[in-house]
Amino acid sequence: MSKIKMTTPLVEMDGDEMTRILWQLIKDQLILPYVDLFTEYYDLGLLNRNATEDQVTIDSANATKKYGVAVKCATITPNQQRMEEFPELTKMWVSANATIRSILDGTVFRAPITIDCIKPTVKTWEKPITIARHAYGDVYKAVELLTDEPGECTMSFVGQSGATQTLSVEKTAGPTVWLGQHNTESSIRSFARSCFQYAVDTKQDMWFSTKDTISKIYDGHFKTVFDEEFVEYKGKFDELGIEYFYTLIDDAVARVMRSKGGFIWACKNYDGDVMSDMVSSAFGSLAMMTSVLVSPDGKYEFEAAHGTVTRHYYRYLQGEKTSTNPIATIFAWTGALKKRGELDGLADLVEFADRLEKATMDTMRSGIMTGDIAHLTEPGFNAKSVDTWEFLDAVADIMNNE
Ligand code: NAP
Ligand code: MG
Repeated sequence: MSKIKMTTPLVEMDGDEMTRILWQLIKDQLILPYVDLFTEYYDLGLLNRNATEDQVTIDSANATKKYGVAVKCATITPNQQRMEEFPELTKMWVSANATIRSILDGTVFRAPITIDCIKPTVKTWEKPITIARHAYGDVYKAVELLTDEPGECTMSFVGQSGATQTLSVEKTAGPTVWLGQHNTESSIRSFARSCFQYAVDTKQDMWFSTKDTISKIYDGHFKTVFDEEFVEYKGKFDELGIEYFYTLIDDAVARVMRSKGGFIWACKNYDGDVMSDMVSSAFGSLAMMTSVLVSPDGKYEFEAAHGTVTRHYYRYLQGEKTSTNPIATIFAWTGALKKRGELDGLADLVEFADRLEKATMDTMRSGIMTGDIAHLTEPGFNAKSVDTWEFLDAVADIMNNE
């Protein structure tokens, strides 16, 4: 059988620990036998990021800007404990994802991979709910203050022109906590465009929620910017029969709980942080959650939502065959290959990605799954918990026997 050819390189960002092991296994067993894989490889493993003073991360993000599609393995974000674990580190490098996100200026979309034998906790949900989280500003880039005497707090803006605007925040009689936060119109605009673009790409309705009845200027501006940006997308939405729907955050929460799912829910930074954990746990497991960063000009970086699964890696190093779930990493690859295929007009590559996703799902439907999800199946469903290698063998069997 001749292998599927690619015409544009896929940006491949390798990573760390157990996910690096999964990465190689997935490539060797499920992709390389079928695809003449054409990637531009960047090793974002912590030691190579350190050796290149993190230039490799910047280069990989710029390559994504150039070629349009990347697939990324989970990477370690070093903390104090990692500094002790890896004495060769010259710096506590920032999160690779944060660096890539700031270069691509994107929005992160997280969607669960759902399967019939694992029912979501919310009974009405029939289809996945995708959370689109704004990744800049608000409380994540705020200044805070605790004061202990009576007094007044003011907020002032000094323009480049010298013009000043000052507001009284509050006069207080005793100890008080204060918070000053901001967002930029350009970041809100990018967020809006990424969301509308993703809705068009995935042909799903898009919901957006804020609290603009209370926060008339701040949240109100988010709503205004979304309305302005929607003008450009309205035609495409109408053509596809999809809808843009704005409502208050509390109303959105109530409606989400009664919905059938199958839409994108665009959330401000804090709302997205909280709601994505709620949605993912209600659908099952972080290991079944895909994540894609989409830039406003339509560049894509696909990854799994989970980390490097350190605890499994140390057991693996002791010789144990761990039951680490490779599904989200497989879907990062299929998502990226499918997008590459769509952009380059390679129907066989798109079809291959669909076939690999189906083989992965069919393996689970046949009852073969890793330990993290085997125990979540409905009563009466006969799930057999296997290790990662047995799981990948079962997927490969389906691929080979089709
Ligand atoms: P994690 O790697 O997501 O793992 C946390 C726990 O969740 C695991 O110990 C495991 O639980 C379970 N789990 C996660 N993925 C799984 C999978 N595929 N199969 C089975 N179980 C899975 O999070 P972490 O331990 O907090 O972080 C480890 C490292 O990853 C850190 O250095 C962090 O910086 C990095 N990280 C990277 C990214 C990224 O690159 N996108 C994201 C998050 C974290 P049990 O041990 O109970 O089985
Ligand atoms: Mg969080």
